[in-house]
Amino acid sequence: MTSFRIAVLPGDGIGPDVTAEGVKALRAVEQAIPSLRFQCDEFGVGAGEFLRSGNPLPDATFEKCKSYDAILLGAMGLPGVRWPDGKEMTPQIDLRERLDLYCGLRPIKTYHPNDTPLKSDKPIDFVLIRESTEGLFAARHGSADLNGDAAMDTMKITRHGSVRLFHSAFRLARKRRKKVTLVDKANVLPSMAYFRTIFQDVAREYPDVETEAVYVDAASLFLVRRPWDFDVMVTENMFGDILSDLAAGLVGGMGMAPSGDLGDQYAVFQPSHGTAPDIAGMGIANPVAMILSVAMMLDWLPGDGAHRGGEILHRAVAEVLADPSKRTPDVGGQMKTHELGSLIAAAVRP
Ligand code: ATP
Repeated sequence: MTSFRIAVLPGDGIGPDVTAEGVKALRAVEQAIPSLRFQCDEFGVGAGEFLRSGNPLPDATFEKCKSYDAILLGAMGLPGVRWPDGKEMTPQIDLRERLDLYCGLRPIKTYHPNDTPLKSDKPIDFVLIRESTEGLFAARHGSADLNGDAAMDTMKITRHGSVRLFHSAFRLARKRRKKVTLVDKANVLPSMAYFRTIFQDVAREYPDVETEAVYVDAASLFLVRRPWDFDVMVTENMFGDILSDLAAGLVGGMGMAPSGDLGDQYAVFQPSHGTAPDIAGMGIANPVAMILSVAMMLDWLPGDGAHRGGEILHRAVAEVLADPSKRTPDVGGQMKTHELGSLIAAAVRP
């Protein structure tokens, strides 16, 4: 028997709805592989938790989460709940920084040609890797005089942070189609020229992997014109933040885009979307991004049992989504969150 302890943080808005479907999928995997067990413990984190306890990520919860094998997170934030200085509460970003989760994996894949807004039925299948502990987001701890004459944010790129990021990208590419695309702005920003030089240094250790470097503006164009050409795409934090929404749009929107934030010791898995206040409480949130995030968690956990669990869950999602009518309204369907979640859970077979 292999047993894993999972810290579950449902959060706010549609977070609890999609998290329930993620846990349902995990229970289906347990049924299919009786030697696997998941102990799921829920903790309050997010804007709702702030309203309850005054802290969106209580220290005791943070410390407890560190003792779990993996963290599964729904979505965080509520409209109108802000810090006194007006900034949004972002415990999910705090977790990335405090747990040193530098490698933000965002797989982008079509399950049926109907889901993409592009006029092509070529399959899209690439992984965007977003650096998640530095980059332009490092400036978020600063402040600006909102009535002053100027404000400035600094892009932070370190050799340590970049080297480990690029190794993750190349290792992943070796398991896929062996191509890594660096996205930067090396023609304008010195920090990005530095980033590119480190990329080229690391690339020399992977002569079997094809590489290219593309400026972020061109990358946006190529993502729309020929996304099927990409395999692994790697970039800094802010560019990754923007491109991951664009990329999600290519395959049906935020409800179809899972993610995993990986460090060397800890990992958090969560759908790429936020709390979707416009549809919260309506029971129509797309659970696919969350269920695929659970599958990524199983891929990441150690041991053949968990990997087999990941495989059968990925297969169940692909089997259900092969029928384009099996969709929630955000992707043109009519199903409720729990209906699609149950259908996928029922498709999980050994
Ligand atoms: P955040 O700032 O936390 O990213 P946001 O409101 O800017 O939040 P999302 O919460 O991701 O962004 O929502 C963006 C759009 O995508 C909204 O129209 C929302 O309804 C839609 N959306 C996001 N997730 C889902 C989902 N799982 N199912 C259906 N629609 C979704």
